[in-house]
Amino acid sequence: MFYLPTRIIFGENALREAAPHLAFGKRALIVSGRSSAVKSGVLGDLIPILNELNIEHKIFAQILENPLTSQIIAGKEFLLEHGCDFIIAIGGGSPLDAAKAIAIAAANDLSEDELYQLDLHKKSYPIVAIPTTHGTGSEVTQYSVLTHTKTNKKAGFGSDLNFPRLAIVDPRYMTSLSPKVSLHTALDALSHLLEGLYSLSRNKHLYPMIHRGVRLIVDNLSLCLKEPNHLPAREALALASLYGGITIAHTGTTLQHAIGYPFTSAFDTPHGLANAMFMKEMMEFNQPNIPQLIDELFKAINMSKEEFYNWLESFPIQIKVEISDDEEERWMDEILGARNIAASPRVPTRDELRALIHTVKKGV
Ligand code: NAP
Ligand code: FE
Repeated sequence: MFYLPTRIIFGENALREAAPHLAFGKRALIVSGRSSAVKSGVLGDLIPILNELNIEHKIFAQILENPLTSQIIAGKEFLLEHGCDFIIAIGGGSPLDAAKAIAIAAANDLSEDELYQLDLHKKSYPIVAIPTTHGTGSEVTQYSVLTHTKTNKKAGFGSDLNFPRLAIVDPRYMTSLSPKVSLHTALDALSHLLEGLYSLSRNKHLYPMIHRGVRLIVDNLSLCLKEPNHLPAREALALASLYGGITIAHTGTTLQHAIGYPFTSAFDTPHGLANAMFMKEMMEFNQPNIPQLIDELFKAINMSKEEFYNWLESFPIQIKVEISDDEEERWMDEILGARNIAASPRVPTRDELRALIHTVKKGV
């Protein structure tokens, strides 16, 4: 089964190419982070196009990394106050995910506590997504990942209403990324691709895309870190990220994502790094259930598993953090209760999960 109701326009100057498909309304709410819409160059390209199309716009550039539910309510009020009739989301996964939730909250008049209640999601506003990172693939997914202001718990919700109507992916908008965000977001994309194999909802029609995506990241990540303006390398990472998004739109994410969330909530560990620090352990953990799929992956990318691990470990992803025993117990409850666990081929026992967490715990 394939379902992807998003028109995708990919490549250099994609925004210009997308102009004939952009008029979803008369007044756009532009949702972005504090700096990325400007730094990436998207806003400079977008405003003249909106003017040509006689589309008014209002800018809500207040989304922080790992968006809080309170920011969603502020965005909802801003949208309603200014009478916007569609959303253009610009940035990394944080503004893209926030835009989806703002659209749902505004269309259904939801409060902060009602955001996760899918039965209340009856309609939404059209969303155009313009990613400026190559990580989440949120431009082609139905997920919105938020941190609840009251509980500080990070969790996602998925709804078909969340799919952007249009995704505009131009690698030029990613050349301004810092080396750290470049690395972390590419590793998030890598995680999505691998989780497409791990997931119980795996779909063999996606395997060629997954293999290609992994190969693109292996071949281009170091080059991109050395030469941030290397456009073919950026384009490769942008494509891999898009493939990762298409993958998880079908398969969901797994324990690999669930295990990273408490680290992001507690220490602001960037999302991609939180995935990467468990990537090798997760592959070892899942391999006994899917040995053939792992073999096929490494055959397809013409690399051994050991070579892949050596490549992975050539990046600064080994971190150790202080975790109290109380925290560890609470996190295990949170991880084992996460929505993503349902798609995991192997659910860890508490002892197995503790052992996984101990791989990054200081003093163990
Ligand atoms: P992000 O949190 O959106 O952004 C990270 C940082 O990069 C921000 O400081 C941002 O700046 C900056 N930035 C973004 N684009 C830039 C550019 N072109 N040039 C310079 N700086 C730029 O990062 P992300 O990793 O893309 O998104 C992570 C979020 O997505 C997490 O909350 C994660 O849980 C979620 N996620 C969603 C899905 C999904 O399917 N929906 C999948 C995986 C992860 P400003 O903030 O100043 O603009
Ligand atoms: Fe992710």
